[in-house]
Amino acid sequence: MTDRPKPVILIVIDGLTPAMLEATDAPALRFLLEHGNYRRAASTFPSVTPVCLASIATGAHPDVHGIPHLIWWNRSEQRLVEYGSSFGALRAAGLVQGVRDSVVNLNERHLSARAETVYEALEAAGLSTAAIDITTFRGRTRHVARIPGFPAVYGPKQFFFYSVYESDRTGAPLAWLNRSLGSIDAYAATVGRWLVTRNSFDLLVYYLPDYDYASHALGPGAAHEALGRADAAIEALLDAAGGREPFLERYGVVLCSDHGQAPVERAARLEVDGAIVTASNRAAMLYGRDPRALATALDGEPSVDVALFLEDGRVIARHNGDEDLTILEQYPDGLARASAALHNPNAGEVLVSAAEGWEFVDLAGHHHVGGGSHGALARADSEVPMLSVGLGEPPSSITGVKALIAAHFGLPTPARG
Ligand SMILES: [Zn+2]
Repeated sequence: MTDRPKPVILIVIDGLTPAMLEATDAPALRFLLEHGNYRRAASTFPSVTPVCLASIATGAHPDVHGIPHLIWWNRSEQRLVEYGSSFGALRAAGLVQGVRDSVVNLNERHLSARAETVYEALEAAGLSTAAIDITTFRGRTRHVARIPGFPAVYGPKQFFFYSVYESDRTGAPLAWLNRSLGSIDAYAATVGRWLVTRNSFDLLVYYLPDYDYASHALGPGAAHEALGRADAAIEALLDAAGGREPFLERYGVVLCSDHGQAPVERAARLEVDGAIVTASNRAAMLYGRDPRALATALDGEPSVDVALFLEDGRVIARHNGDEDLTILEQYPDGLARASAALHNPNAGEVLVSAAEGWEFVDLAGHHHVGGGSHGALARADSEVPMLSVGLGEPPSSITGVKALIAAHFGLPTPARG
């Protein structure tokens, strides 16, 4: 027992920027920062939640995991896939189909079989995994829904998902009751406390989405109250372990976010003749026959920073008529992220990164003007906090989290990542 590696808790606070974490005086976060190794790390592109959570869970960029954006054109089924850019967008795409896409199909059909999730990797090695609320959850254990109409899914051994899937009865309240008051993080806290009390996992993925929800509304740098609620959800884990020092004796911790948040002042509806445009937050994709012509059609469009496409296998970055890859050097992992996004078989022929202060409206015309958004290559969208407590040096990219955890448990580190 003594030489068994400590269990690990991976805490993902959705949309948390490095600046907000570095300046926080929230007590549980402060405690973890003071006992760990911290750095800023890069997200993936497009820097939106489903793409980023897939990168965290699989240790790979979209060229490997296959999740391209919040909304995309499914070529084989000739239809839009919408993961929930907004409730209106979900409704516009068809609510039942949207929920099925974002919960079931994302994991079973859209997430590439070539990618391996951290749950699959650890459980193949005889370790036990648990996850709360994270949307990339593909695992080896079948879970039947608690709500009629939802099909069974395969997830980690212990799996809790917004009151819909619950592998154990924890007494947690319904996750959905009051989103704006942080009911989802409160649900996670109740389940997390239950799991830590029983200490039955090697890896717990503890996903806290309420911060991003608040930061979209209030803008980056303003969602202090929501960060306080995320902190309380972490404090619940410390308490359940018997206090701060016992918690650190028992667990290793990785804490990060999936992407940043950038201020939004203006919104644009992106339309290009001859293309299917899938736009959401600060990224868009164009599906069409002639990528160069489609990218050229965006010249002079003020909402567009860079239009990216492949020509003879090479990445082309077009900015207002100029084609110069050095423009990508100003962004964290700019060229590597652009290339990986373009090499995703589900991505559009042209990928669009929004200009500073701009957002693209979604299917329902929804935007976050006056608040915050993300999705672009820009540093504000793409830089995340990365903290390791007891697992050594934190990785420089969210794609390195899986390898860090695998190495902690002595598993071979995959070549990719
Ligand atoms: Zn997110």
